[in-house]
Amino acid sequence: MQRKRPILIEWEDGRIHITARVHFSGWKKAAVQNVPMRGSVLSGLRRQFSAENPYFASLMGNALDFPEWEGRPIEVSFTLVEAERRPWVDFFLVPRLGVSCAAFFPLWRPWGSKRILLFAGDIRTRYHYTPRQVGLVACHEFGHAMGLGDLYGGLAPYGLCYRPPAALTAEMPFNDLMRTSFRQEWFTPNDLEMALFAQQECAPQTHVPTGWWKGLRKVSGAVRGKNVDPEEARRDRQRQRENRKRRRRNRLVRWFSPGRRRKK
Ligand SMILES: [Zn+2]
Repeated sequence: MQRKRPILIEWEDGRIHITARVHFSGWKKAAVQNVPMRGSVLSGLRRQFSAENPYFASLMGNALDFPEWEGRPIEVSFTLVEAERRPWVDFFLVPRLGVSCAAFFPLWRPWGSKRILLFAGDIRTRYHYTPRQVGLVACHEFGHAMGLGDLYGGLAPYGLCYRPPAALTAEMPFNDLMRTSFRQEWFTPNDLEMALFAQQECAPQTHVPTGWWKGLRKVSGAVRGKNVDPEEARRDRQRQRENRKRRRRNRLVRWFSPGRRRKK
């Protein structure tokens, strides 16, 4: 028997079918039904996997990097179910400003429920999203729930470390929904491919080929590798050693000097 999943991706004979079980919650449970954000989320999700998405309208297997699908047309379909019980993707709607995010506790698993904290705008820029942008943010977070990492660089909040922004390639175009925020448009075939891998490998995927620790090492290495000339590097180290020694000596002198005691 197929285990129930919040987001189930099934594929057969060139057809990919995605079933999403979504749920809405909030601080005031009864009021959530009336929050306008709810409609934006539903229409935003449906729009992504409809014929409106230019990447899925005439999708060929080549775009998905699965050798057995080479050269055959792929059909993507989507069913949205408003689930009554877990597992589900829970949209926790907060009709005020904040920083939207997706959380998985304790670990990301394809069969585990996910919670998406969805705000009506960004508190850092004090910007209120339009209904269409609320849908886009919801879809970006939904991407995380499918197992996709962020495409933007900088401090990836869940990695807590530096990640270089992914390069612009045919597979990772500028309008990829995972690239930045509410301005970007669509899930791409590459995103779908990664979601399939995430489901198979039971692990979220990152767009950047390096792991977070590799990225970190690369950054610190760039700073350390400033000196190319070995002779100059040696003199540099010598100077640093002397400076350290001098600082330590000064510290001791200050500590034991009568002047310090008098101040006390
Ligand atoms: Zn993100």
